[in-house]
Amino acid sequence: MTISSDPLLIQSAAYTEGAQRGARYLQGLSARSVQGEPVPPGLDQELPRQGMEPQQVLALMDQLGAGSTVATAAGRYFGYVIGGALPAASGARAMLAAWDQVADVLTGPSVLKMEEVALRWVVDLLGLPSQTAGAFTSGATMANLTLLITARDTLLARQGHPRGRGLIGAPRLRIVASAEIHATVLKSLRMAGLGSDDICFVPVNDQGQMQLDQLPPLDASTIVIAQVGNVCTGAADPIGALAARCQAAGAWLHVDGAFGLWMRAGNSDMAAACAGLEQADSWVGDAHKTLNVPYDSGIALCRHPAELRASMAIGADYLPATNPGPADHAPEFSRSARGAETWAALLSLGRDGLRDLLMRMHRNARRVATELTALGFEVPHDVHFNQVFATWPQDETQAAAVVARVQASGEAWFGAASWQGRAGFRISLSNWATTDSDIDRLIAAIKSARP
Ligand SMILES: *Cc1c(COP(=O)(O)O)cnc(C)c1O
Repeated sequence: MTISSDPLLIQSAAYTEGAQRGARYLQGLSARSVQGEPVPPGLDQELPRQGMEPQQVLALMDQLGAGSTVATAAGRYFGYVIGGALPAASGARAMLAAWDQVADVLTGPSVLKMEEVALRWVVDLLGLPSQTAGAFTSGATMANLTLLITARDTLLARQGHPRGRGLIGAPRLRIVASAEIHATVLKSLRMAGLGSDDICFVPVNDQGQMQLDQLPPLDASTIVIAQVGNVCTGAADPIGALAARCQAAGAWLHVDGAFGLWMRAGNSDMAAACAGLEQADSWVGDAHKTLNVPYDSGIALCRHPAELRASMAIGADYLPATNPGPADHAPEFSRSARGAETWAALLSLGRDGLRDLLMRMHRNARRVATELTALGFEVPHDVHFNQVFATWPQDETQAAAVVARVQASGEAWFGAASWQGRAGFRISLSNWATTDSDIDRLIAAIKSARP
């Protein structure tokens, strides 16, 4: 590659090329098979001796990569809980790619301010205590890790075991969690040195919600992990009642609300499902699933700012930095200013737009559940938010065949799942771009794939 007198003009041209190719990709995505083609063998090449011009690299990337993407950005993708990307957030991502800011006051003052403002908006939208401190992480897994470490350190410090001593010789902590807690929380617990073999799992009801009368005795060495947004049913645990029990015992209540925390910003009925949310000690929410910000973006929130900083502060000891920045609130040191995309997403929606988006997801999920039932499927739960689990009651083994046929049709994409011992599939209504006609096509595809 030759360098001209202003190298950034070369970058600008490549940037435009990438953006134009991305724009053309989006223009064709609604008409394409959701599943995408097999990955072309041409991608598996040795690194050449001679480099290529940026434009050539981008053309090759587009040619070899675009057709084999899964169309998660499009409205007919209903797998896992993925979400798309709101236009403002997607455009912000593109602009941020050119800015290339590192989230810190010295390397990205304006984007850092956007992150601060976005966190304040989120705290306000969720009705959390005003002192709540937070951080943007790469996802909910890292946000859970951040807060479980904070919970661990705080409970140990309260028992006279300071942070600087780590886990060596530390008193024992207890973990109490919903039996249907997300698999990644178990990983976060292991990464936090708390293990995942000794969890006291609390049985759930037929909606996947923790049963209060099954809660073991709690004490000041207990971390209780509840969830708002069960991945199969969308249901929320009884947070208010759990918080009261935790407070009385001196236990820490952590809420994994990866995609469901936003329910609190829905209409009053939806918000009521997470009544008492503000009484928990820490919360996790996504930006990349329900909020439809591009990947990777999660949010960690803690009602005890000093404790979060004491656990995450950079430095030789555990004392909070005098001038804490984002790197003193989360595991990462250098990172992109991803929170600016959440700022853009929220600004484009406004309060009303966010509520409307959440209610549309809920309406779409209710419609899908009703139509599935009419087609002879069974939806064995209430539709709490945006998730629908269904099975073919005459013969549950048929559910996987339905999934395979729909995926192969290219009309829609969702995955097989099992829940409470039943084999079925799960449909997530979490993409801002899903239209009524996308759901018509989903239902038509399921109808022709029916056993
Ligand atoms: C997706 C999810 C996670 C993990 O979040 P990532 O952003 O993928 O790291 C944790 N908990 C729940 C309930 C989830 O849905």
